[in-house]
Amino acid sequence: MDQYDVIIVGSGPAGMGAAFTIAAQKPNIKILILDREKFSTGGMRNDCKMNFTFPIGFPVEYWTEGVANRYLEQVVDFLKPDFLNQTNIETYQKRAERLGCSLLQIRQTHLGTDGGLALIKKLLAQLADLGVDLALGEAMEQVNPAEKSITTEKREIGYKALLVAPGRKGFHFLQDVMSTLSVPFVDNIVDIGIRLETRIEHYPIVKDYYDPKFYFPEKVRTFCTNSGNAHVVKERYATSRGDQWLSVNGHAFAPDFRHDNGLVNFAILKTVRFTAPLASGQAFAENLGLQASLMGGGKPLMQRVGDFRLGSRSREESFSKDLYDFEPSLRDCCPGDISLAMPAKILRAIWKAMKNLDTIVPGVLHPSTIMYYPEIKLYANKPTYLDEHFKVHEAVWFAGDGAGTSRGITGAWASGIRAAEGILETL
Ligand SMILES: Cc1cc2nc3c(=O)[nH]c(=O)nc-3n(C[C@H](O)[C@H](O)[C@H](O)COP(=O)(O)OP(=O)(O)OC[C@H]3O[C@@H](n4cnc5c(N)ncnc54)[C@H](O)[C@@H]3O)c2cc1C
Repeated sequence: MDQYDVIIVGSGPAGMGAAFTIAAQKPNIKILILDREKFSTGGMRNDCKMNFTFPIGFPVEYWTEGVANRYLEQVVDFLKPDFLNQTNIETYQKRAERLGCSLLQIRQTHLGTDGGLALIKKLLAQLADLGVDLALGEAMEQVNPAEKSITTEKREIGYKALLVAPGRKGFHFLQDVMSTLSVPFVDNIVDIGIRLETRIEHYPIVKDYYDPKFYFPEKVRTFCTNSGNAHVVKERYATSRGDQWLSVNGHAFAPDFRHDNGLVNFAILKTVRFTAPLASGQAFAENLGLQASLMGGGKPLMQRVGDFRLGSRSREESFSKDLYDFEPSLRDCCPGDISLAMPAKILRAIWKAMKNLDTIVPGVLHPSTIMYYPEIKLYANKPTYLDEHFKVHEAVWFAGDGAGTSRGITGAWASGIRAAEGILETL
C-alpha cells in the first residue's frame, strides 16, 4: 500500500490552497493530490473571475469578515491578482438604493477560460516542483477510517491526514464519505434562477464593472457576469438514481477585441432555504432540473423577454437574426415558456428583480434579451464541523464548495488554507 502524510482529494482551488500552504511550511512532508479529471473542473477553468471582497464566496455561517479578510490577504499575496478598474459605481449605487436594492463594490480580476487554464497548468507545475505528487485522472472511491486509508479505482493509499475537497460536482461522493464517517450534515439551501443574455449595449454597466453584484429584495442577486467573448454553456448533472438533468452557466474568454461577440450573460438567482419536512435542497433542485429537461426535450429552455412579457412561449423563429439582431450563444436549447417550468414564487421574485435591474441599468429588458432556464447552484452539504479548521473526523478535513465552506474560487482557496492550518497542527 502506498503511504502519504497528507492526501488531498481535488485539485481545485481548495485543494491547491491547502497543498501550497502545507508544502511551504513542511517541505519534507509527503503530499499526494488526487483528481478524477486531468485539470480541476470548476471556475478556475471556466471564465476564472476572482472576487477578493467579503462576503462574496464566503458563507457567513463559517466566516466573519475579519477571519475572511485575514485569509483573503494570503490568497492575494500568493496569486498576486491585477484588480480590474471600476468606474461610475456611485451612479448605479444611488439608483439601486432608491429601489431598495444595492450594488456591492468588490475587488475583482478576470483571466478568462483560456487564462484560467494557463493558471492551472502553472500552479500544477509549481506543486510538482515543490515535490507534491499529482495523480490526475484518478478518483477516490472510499475511505477506511480505521485503517487510515482510501481506495481509488487503481490502488489503496494510506494517510496521516486526509483533506477531501471534491467541489460541488462531488456532492454525492461527499455524502458517501460522510455516511462512512458518520458525519451529520444538512443540505437545505439551493439557488434557483435564470441566465440572461443580451447585447453589451443593453447592459453597458459591464464596461464600468466586469461582474456587478446587485442584491434585490427576496434574496435575489446577480451572479457570474461574463462579457466580451462570452458564451452560455450547458452543464450536465445526474441524480443519485442516475437520471440526467441540465443547468446552464456562462463563461468568457480573456479580452481579445478581434473575437468579441458583443454579448453579455449573467445569472439572476434566488436563494431558497427549506424547512422541515423537506430536508434536501439538492433533491428539490434536481426535480426542477428534471422538469425543465422534460419540457425542453432533454435541453434547457430559452425564451426572449419580448415573448415572456406577452405571456407567449418562444418559438424557433424567435431566435433568428431576422427577428432580433443576435442569436443565442447556446444554440442547443429549446425555445419555450419558462413560466410553465419554474415555481411561481421563485419566478415572481426574479421577474421583480429583473424590472428593478432594468430601472438601474435601462435597456437590459430589451425584447431581444434571452432568458435561459434553469440555472441551479447546489449549495452543497453542510457537515457538522469539529473545529474551525473544518475537521470532520479523526485525521479527516473537508474544504471548498462541496463541503459548504466556500462559494467561489478565492473562498475555496482560503478554506483550503484554513483546513491546512488544522492539518499542520496535527502533523
Ligand atoms: C462553469 C463554472 C464557472 C464558474 N465560474 C466561476 C468564476 O468565474 N469565479 C468564481 O469565483 N467561481 C466560479 N465558479 C465556482 C468555482 O468553480 C468554485 O467556487 C470553485 O472551483 C470551488 O473550488 P473547490 O476546490 O471546492 O472545487 P472544484 O474547483 O470543483 O475542484 C474539485 C475537484 O475535485 C475533483 N473530484 C471530485 N470528486 C473526486 C473524487 N472522488 N476523486 C478525485 N477527485 C475528485 C473534481 O474533478 C474537481 O477537479 C464556477 C463554477 C462553474 C461550474
